[in-house]
Amino acid sequence: MKRLLVAATSVTLLAAAALTPAPATAEPVKVTQLARLGDAKIIPGHSFGPVLAQGAGLPIDGSSAFITGSSDRARSAAEDGWRRAFNGLPAQVKQAVPPHLRPPEPAKPAEVTVAPAQEPSSSPVPPKCYNCVAITYDDGPVPGSTERLLDILKRKGVHATFFVVGRNANAHPQILRRIRDEGHTIGNHSFSHPDLARQSDGTIAAQLDDTDAALKNQAGLDPHWMRPPYGSHDPRVASAAGARGMALAVWDVDTADWQHRNPATTCKRAVDGAREGSIILMHDIHEPTVDAAECVIDGLRAKGLNPVGLDEMIAHPEAGHVYTRAD
Ligand SMILES: [Zn+2]
Repeated sequence: MKRLLVAATSVTLLAAAALTPAPATAEPVKVTQLARLGDAKIIPGHSFGPVLAQGAGLPIDGSSAFITGSSDRARSAAEDGWRRAFNGLPAQVKQAVPPHLRPPEPAKPAEVTVAPAQEPSSSPVPPKCYNCVAITYDDGPVPGSTERLLDILKRKGVHATFFVVGRNANAHPQILRRIRDEGHTIGNHSFSHPDLARQSDGTIAAQLDDTDAALKNQAGLDPHWMRPPYGSHDPRVASAAGARGMALAVWDVDTADWQHRNPATTCKRAVDGAREGSIILMHDIHEPTVDAAECVIDGLRAKGLNPVGLDEMIAHPEAGHVYTRAD
């Protein structure tokens, strides 16, 4: 507010200067005389006559806000008035107003949002997914359990990750497309589920390529993620995945759901083991795992964790890298 007052007074001076022959420095007497011309007192003791005469309608609103209020709205009204007055000045006078006394630019919508603006950064570090965990389901898609899991995930508003076996993707393309359409992350889990670390280079390549082809042909997908069956990998497996633009995703939380087939145990292991950045291993081909899904989601949320797809938790995976967790 004080700045506005100073600015307005200064423009009075400057207006006087502009109308007065050189020297350009205004003399107090002349300013006083000029100030009286318009006889429009806005603030007691401060005449804005010459400025008012040039500006359309000027800061009446602004000046009253100026006196009575200190809210943002009042400040904004005062600034609007000053801006209108400034814009109404002759170009010659406007030019004479030093930049720090000019009215501020009108606020843009982006400047009044609560969220802090992202500073452009020179390093390509992606934004962190706060409190995120990835729930992952392997070995489908299959009719029945995979579809029932999709129903639950949809109802709970959660994205998961499905590591699909290529031959199941070819057998059940409509389920594959539903997984895609409902926003889940889809990864390559080999074509027929062998232990890749025990295979020849040629077999590793074929297992990855045949599944990539199935995902492409059946659903137009080009996966960024590969999970080796049994979590079994070596540098050849990692490099074969990397050459195809995929990162490896293993896990830090193993529910052993395929072994015990107990929903309560699956839920407890998933929830107890998870912390921010965790990757949780489960299998959508087992009904008890699907029975546990709601408990897993509710339990994670109760811990303040946010279950998401791998594409959301790790937006730009490094091809060939082995991720056990987000970090
Ligand atoms: Zn598997």
